[in-house]
Amino acid sequence: MFWADRIAGEIVERFGKTKPIIIRDEKTPSGRVHVGSMRGVAIHGVIHEALDEEGVSNVFKYEFNDMDPMDGFPEYLPEEFRQYMGKPLRAIPSPEPGFDNFAEYFAEEFKIVIAKAGFTPEFYNASDLYFSGKMDEVIRMALNHAAEIRKIYREVSGSVKADDWYPLAVICEHCGNVGTTKVYAWDGEMVSYRCEPAMVKWAQGCGHEGKISPFGGNAKFPFKVDWPAKWKVVGVMVEGGGKDHSTKGGTRDVAAHIANEVFACETPFNIPYEFLLVGGKKMSSSKGRGSSAREISELVPSKIFRLALIGKDFSQQFNFDPEGDTIPVLYDLYDKLALGYRETKDDDYARLFEFIHPERKLPPEDVFLPRFSQIAFLTQMPHLKIEEEAARLKGAPLTDADMQELSERAEYAQYWIQQCAPEKFVFTLQQTLPDAAKDLSHAQRQALKVVYNFIENADGMPSGEDIQQKLHSIKEEMSIQPSELFSALYLAFLGKTYGPKVGWFLSVLDKNFVLKRLEEASN
Ligand SMILES: [Zn+2]
Repeated sequence: MFWADRIAGEIVERFGKTKPIIIRDEKTPSGRVHVGSMRGVAIHGVIHEALDEEGVSNVFKYEFNDMDPMDGFPEYLPEEFRQYMGKPLRAIPSPEPGFDNFAEYFAEEFKIVIAKAGFTPEFYNASDLYFSGKMDEVIRMALNHAAEIRKIYREVSGSVKADDWYPLAVICEHCGNVGTTKVYAWDGEMVSYRCEPAMVKWAQGCGHEGKISPFGGNAKFPFKVDWPAKWKVVGVMVEGGGKDHSTKGGTRDVAAHIANEVFACETPFNIPYEFLLVGGKKMSSSKGRGSSAREISELVPSKIFRLALIGKDFSQQFNFDPEGDTIPVLYDLYDKLALGYRETKDDDYARLFEFIHPERKLPPEDVFLPRFSQIAFLTQMPHLKIEEEAARLKGAPLTDADMQELSERAEYAQYWIQQCAPEKFVFTLQQTLPDAAKDLSHAQRQALKVVYNFIENADGMPSGEDIQQKLHSIKEEMSIQPSELFSALYLAFLGKTYGPKVGWFLSVLDKNFVLKRLEEASN
């Protein structure tokens, strides 16, 4: 069974179908969001869709945690933003005009990516919960049970907190920091706190000492308490997380104990998922491309983006390498899934194929899917009309759906080639005989002469298949290694020892041009 259907089944088994299932995920918008955060969106998103298809009432809520402090400095921000280290993200100005604050600016950028991937969660901000007073009850519970929370920290994760440590961070009335304050007393109505100059390395507190109500948005929980508090307040029933959170003694373990023992609330259904990496790591490349959700999402259309996000079981890692083979490999996989879907509609691959299309808008089954690597090549040959070449590849005129798919592939191929495609996919048709083709071996020159004769004697330009067949007979008759023969042809036209499928590649070129070049290269 496709993994999302399997998980949806387990969720229904646990909760039944009598009340709406509440699914939740969250992100702290502390800067450009890494594409890895899309894995959580996609996993929760497809489970939401799978439950919908089963007729199970459910809602997918996505929180932007705008109460969190700025605790790291993104290198792309102007220096003047350093003064905001330790402030709540919602209290920091937006780097660009037109947005309420810093958190909103980066959240909006991520929302665009989420929409492109075809997911439609209900968004809300952490501050909505805190400022509306919805968190007041759990704040009171946590403060009243601070000793139990300290005990859970100690026993579950080994983190020892002093007896005057309270699980709450007040927003300093004097400097506005939330990352530097320490609550040390609670009298049932007010908390006493100090804004510590040296509590954290990344921000400096002002030294202010005060007493304030912890309610109504004056304070927020630390993450390990915030998480179970949200489970209770939002009524979360399903919430996965990166598998690093799910280790014994890890964040989720602590959160689960606090949920059960302090907030009297159940732990949500867990989906401990593996990471989505970019280039095997956090990438920064010579071409200046990054690994943000926005940059990666611009490289592929929705269906290919979704294939990257949900194509593997949630428990398996996926490595997206824009500077490697990932994009052509994803397209080839898409084409394979499409072919399989024509055969059968009820295996895991068919389900995956349905799920990767937002709103299940599948293309017509007979749509022509030219190989992405071929389209990438064609877009680099300025003399060619891509539609004509695609029709030749198809062997029939293109339909409207064919044209739509083709232009989408061509557009993304072109962008990929310009932005980050590896050298082996980048080709320039050489206008004069490349230097690299000037010292071919005697055998190579002889073989090129035979290719010359074959093409010259053909009626028009022979088809890719005919050329390919001829090349096979040449390598046998002349006892030349295939690699020698092929590289001689690639060198003569592209100045490289490799290229796309050689017969097809020659067939798309102008006959006179090909003959002239073969003559030059074989002399
Ligand atoms: Zn302060």
